[in-house]
Amino acid sequence: MSSLRAALNVLKDELIEFHKPLSEKYEIPSVMKEYDGKNPILFKNSKEHNTPIIAGICGKREFFKRFLSCQSDEELYVKINAAVNNPLKTDKQDDAPVKEVFEKPDLTKFPILTHYERDAGPYITSAVVISRSLTKGFQNASIHRLLVIGKDRLAIRVVPRHLYALYNEAKKLRKPLPVAIAIGLHPLILLAASSGPRFGVDELTVANALLNGALKVTSCENIGVYVPAEAEVVFEGYMLHDVEVDEGPFVDITGTYDVIRKQPVIELINVMRRKDFIYQALLPAGSEHQLLMGLPKEARIWDHVSKVVSKVVKVRLTPGGCGWLHAAISIAKQSEGDGKNAILAAFAAHPSLKHVVVVDEDIDVDNIEEVEWAIATRFQGEEDLVIVKGCRGSSLDPSADQERLLTSKVGFDATKPLNKPAEKFKRALIPCKYDAKSGDVVYYVSDEG
Ligand code: MN
Repeated sequence: MSSLRAALNVLKDELIEFHKPLSEKYEIPSVMKEYDGKNPILFKNSKEHNTPIIAGICGKREFFKRFLSCQSDEELYVKINAAVNNPLKTDKQDDAPVKEVFEKPDLTKFPILTHYERDAGPYITSAVVISRSLTKGFQNASIHRLLVIGKDRLAIRVVPRHLYALYNEAKKLRKPLPVAIAIGLHPLILLAASSGPRFGVDELTVANALLNGALKVTSCENIGVYVPAEAEVVFEGYMLHDVEVDEGPFVDITGTYDVIRKQPVIELINVMRRKDFIYQALLPAGSEHQLLMGLPKEARIWDHVSKVVSKVVKVRLTPGGCGWLHAAISIAKQSEGDGKNAILAAFAAHPSLKHVVVVDEDIDVDNIEEVEWAIATRFQGEEDLVIVKGCRGSSLDPSADQERLLTSKVGFDATKPLNKPAEKFKRALIPCKYDAKSGDVVYYVSDEG
């Protein structure tokens, strides 16, 4: 099963149902923020619509492990990388669940949320935009924020990646680019859409590999694009080649307002949907946003670093680093210099990465205090710091040169130097433990002997 509903069923024990109608402007997002990274929430309705709204189903690493039947991080990374490298062709299905209702586009009928105080307006934030190259015929699927600017019009933010290339191709031909906007999807389809396979690979085939071949697609007859058959809603339309509008401000993954830019416009021509569709919402800068963008990058970093050091223990794009700009990596260091090679491999794996800390395997990178302790006790700026100036960085970092997308990258090698005795760096232990329940003090054998 490759539907949003199948995924909801997997998470049914954690699901919180919200019956009190709240406004789509700010109020529902405030509840999403409260449960961010904890529970999926189903809003039965809103003040403005009778449509159920789901949020939070991509909010925990644990959820993805369950969707992919993985026990460990390593298994998760291997599965994601395998799907990116070995996509699986999708089968077609004509009588698709998303084809229950066809209607004229009217965005006022959909519960599209306004999230933050100064956001330009209601934004669709969970949509996979599927397009087709006008000259080469292949499909591309990616996640983009979409600002409502009319009943049948959206402004789309397109960073210079794959859809941008297809759009430029269309502009040169002076033709509009067909796009389908799919909302209400299985989290693994969203993950695949942000997994970054090479240009020319349809991300839906990556999703199909993640879903073990269960993803069926159905055609949007008006525009010749194939979309997930079990989507809740699909908008069909065109990205206009000759119009651009102001897009933004909008809070992106950093939790700061992204700048206003001239961006393309999508004109909708048709809607297909399930009769009782569920709208999928996603809180910008929340944990769903960070995990969907970050998990495929963690998998890539794990893969790249594993090629230069013998064992990578854990990779985390840390929450304080927006789940995007900072990595903390623990390795089993064998040779002097392993830490620095790990830093270089991590930067190569994830071009938006800005700062990376490499630590030994006794440091848990999920505990940022331990990481800081490693920097405090194992790191010397003069020897262990790597600075690379003038690199291509993230467009989202307000401290970077956002025009030219240039940034400085800094690596911290906080692994123990091998030329000093290892015991100098060990956290000291008390050889017994107080058990508050029994009031007893229990001795244990420390590995010091
Ligand atoms: Mn692509």
